[in-house]
Amino acid sequence: MWALCRSQICRAVRAFRLPAVASRLHCAERDSSPASRCWSCGSPFPARGGLPRFCPACQALQPPEPRPDLFRIMGCDCSFNIDVQQLQQRFRSLQRSLHPDYFSQRSQKERDFSEQHSSLVNRAYRTLLSPLSRGLYLLELNGVELAEGTDSDIEVEFLKEIMEINERLVEPQNVAKIEEIESLIEVKQEELTKGVSKAFERGDLQEAKKLLVKLKYFENLEEKVKSKKNPA
Ligand SMILES: [Zn+2]
Repeated sequence: MWALCRSQICRAVRAFRLPAVASRLHCAERDSSPASRCWSCGSPFPARGGLPRFCPACQALQPPEPRPDLFRIMGCDCSFNIDVQQLQQRFRSLQRSLHPDYFSQRSQKERDFSEQHSSLVNRAYRTLLSPLSRGLYLLELNGVELAEGTDSDIEVEFLKEIMEINERLVEPQNVAKIEEIESLIEVKQEELTKGVSKAFERGDLQEAKKLLVKLKYFENLEEKVKSKKNPA
């Protein structure tokens, strides 16, 4: 069910994809890393290359960059409106190229690097797949932080709405009622995701932040619904 909701959100996000999204957003500088030398054979190679990088001379796997750009790892535009299908394809192809079997005959150092790359790829995929974490990451790249417990910008009406849904979830519920709440949450998440998308397109980071805070509330509610449906 969650996978379905997610893919619906993703479709909603894609539907709002506009061409040539204004790059008012600051993203990691893509060409900033200096040209490197292979740790194994010392050959120089250009800073920009596929990720993970292999030395063109000796094919040794290189370590991950210290501050990797998650969008670049996943081959996505640095934008809220990413192509989710492309993200998933890229994830599968990176997973294949970093499969431990492929490195079993390599040095310990390369096996370690491949594990580091793997966890980085997992983190990048998870971060960019969910609209909430993708939005928060974009804010972070632009120096906008979401401090804990600062909901002062959130309207009282909104908080009331959340509280009401919370209360409905606490009451004993039959499956149909829970699914009703689940659909409501899903609709709200789609609306908010569309709003976040538009805010980023306008370069309105404060509005994006405000909507992402709201989206976070609904994500919490979604978690509650899930545990209500499948109690541990
Ligand atoms: Zn080399």
